[in-house]
Amino acid sequence: LTQKWDVIIIGAGAAGLMCAATVGYQGLAVLVIDHAPKAAAKIRISGGGKCNFTNLDVTAKNFICQNPHFVKSALSRYPSSAFIEMVERHGLHYEQRELGKLFCKQGASDLIQILRAECTWAQVTFSLKTEVNKVQAVAGGFQVDTSVGALSCSKLVIATGALSFPKLKASGFGYAIAEQFGLKVLPTRPGLVPLNFEGKWHERIAELSGLSLDVAVSVGGKCFHEAMLFTHQGLSGPSILQASNYWREGEPIQINLLPNSNVLDDLKQLRKQASSLNRWLGQFWPKRFMQFWLTLYPAPEDIANASDETLEAYARQLTEWSLYPSETAGYDKAEVTLGGVDTDEVSSKTLEAKKQHGLYFIGEVLDVTGQLGGYNFQWAWASGVACGTAIASS
Ligand code: FAD
Repeated sequence: LTQKWDVIIIGAGAAGLMCAATVGYQGLAVLVIDHAPKAAAKIRISGGGKCNFTNLDVTAKNFICQNPHFVKSALSRYPSSAFIEMVERHGLHYEQRELGKLFCKQGASDLIQILRAECTWAQVTFSLKTEVNKVQAVAGGFQVDTSVGALSCSKLVIATGALSFPKLKASGFGYAIAEQFGLKVLPTRPGLVPLNFEGKWHERIAELSGLSLDVAVSVGGKCFHEAMLFTHQGLSGPSILQASNYWREGEPIQINLLPNSNVLDDLKQLRKQASSLNRWLGQFWPKRFMQFWLTLYPAPEDIANASDETLEAYARQLTEWSLYPSETAGYDKAEVTLGGVDTDEVSSKTLEAKKQHGLYFIGEVLDVTGQLGGYNFQWAWASGVACGTAIASS
């Protein structure tokens, strides 16, 4: 016997839960299916366990998408203020950190409880640990064959996320469904991910493992002024994760090691005063990095008599340190996946596939990737609400 639902949502992550509550409140019978044993696994581990759930300043510029206008409709109808209003209504303790990032104060599980409560009040039904074997379009909707039996629905929402963090049961299921219905899927690659190095640079960087510097990293015309962390494999930390979204194999990244000073002016001042360059560098960097740097790039010997060209070259060395990563650390370590279901294939207002009536794609499965800072969750919430609202009013 086929169980009938108004709406089936595949994927109990951020986007799926938000969509489910939105639809459920409108009195539709909603089933959320997930193959994982628990809902919202990524929310639980996100933001170092504190979930950076949104940002105070969200614009289309914070997203990478082949169509840069695509995100505007959903984001403007469900801005971060709407999500903040919802979590405040539930009494969530949260805190604001640098660059407008909002985090749970105690832990991400507080936020999961809120989403669960919303789904319970909206009478959403869950089927976890459930595999989807086959999806077919049938008259009036879809037939979904699962490990718990055959199901049918008039609307089907794909909220299965992307490929990052396979240990949390991430899968390419959403791409396969898109292709099954003739929708284009753009090539994917890991994003918000550490960058690895090979050979001598691997060894040099590994020596500095654990060290963190305030830097500005430039790549692909973008610049990110945040912390950078040296690890055993390469470089990580917010500035590198941000840069990784724009980095392509074979390209360098450029690091400004003194982003808070006007380096050339300062070097000229040192020349005038015949002061020690080492002492000057020492006020910005830990000793370990000083030693590393001065061994590789010795300071001009006689600063008092250094030429303008010498100072300019040393300033460039300090502010445009070019390094060539060999690869990213891959999907295992990536917070997000770039690419995915081509946004030209879905309506930016309803998230419905243009080629298949009743089929919707929300969240990270789409070719929408946010920068670091709570933007990815804000996209999940906003696209979930846009889709849920459209389904409820159709
Ligand atoms: P997901 O949350 O990934 O949910 C997809 C769901 O679909 C999962 O429950 C999965 O089990 C299920 N699923 C997958 N395949 C199938 C299948 N075949 N059958 C049934 N179910 C399936 N973003 C931020 O904005 N702020 C942060 O602080 C942040 N920190 C992060 C930290 C880490 C370590 C990681 C990995 C990501 C982080 N992100 C962060 C990104 C954010 O988690 C994702 O962008 C967001 O979860 C995407 O939401 P989604 O609902 O589209 O997909």
